[in-house]
Amino acid sequence: MSHPPYVIDELISAKSIAARIETLAREIQGRFGDTDKLVVVGLLRGSFVFIADLVRELDLPVEVDFLEASSYGDGMESSREVRILKDLRGEIGGRDVLVVEDIVDTGFTLSHVMHLLKSRSPARIETIALLDKPTRREVDIKATWTGFEIPDEFVVGYGIDYAQRNRNLPYIGKVRFT
Ligand code: 5GP
Ligand code: MG
Repeated sequence: MSHPPYVIDELISAKSIAARIETLAREIQGRFGDTDKLVVVGLLRGSFVFIADLVRELDLPVEVDFLEASSYGDGMESSREVRILKDLRGEIGGRDVLVVEDIVDTGFTLSHVMHLLKSRSPARIETIALLDKPTRREVDIKATWTGFEIPDEFVVGYGIDYAQRNRNLPYIGKVRFT
């Protein structure tokens, strides 16, 4: 698949992301108190950088697990049909769970994943999304914590790809076709 030429304009700097994650980690710690049964669940692949930085700011005993749901494929449009491509390795029944998502867009992915995970009877389940595009929402869902609200732009970097590229950028940028 070939893509038209584009440039990436910085939207959120690496420094702002780091500062925001410190604040969010303190709030998460406040909410989960002194739990010793927290499982942090990253939604692959876009959340892998975020979850890595977030767990290192959490002063709690945490386990980390991953789930992969189908999303945009290689395109720029949500498919609205969510499939689980890779399930958790561990059980979450009776555990405290924090679901970590890169972006909440239409809301279909997070709402599908939450429905699935709640059916496994966790003690508590909360969500955190690095980015939220509220104007795009089609399903009534909001993460417990949000890093940044952004406009309806296609973004990359800090784990988030365009056609599998740009995940290694340390900042969030928007794609602009040239
Ligand atoms: P939703 O199901 O909420 O529409 O979509 C959520 C998923 O779509 C996110 O986890 C992310 O994988 C993908 N997504 C949404 N907006 C963007 C974007 O601007 N850039 C990229 N690369 N993926 C996005
Ligand atoms: Mg995703």
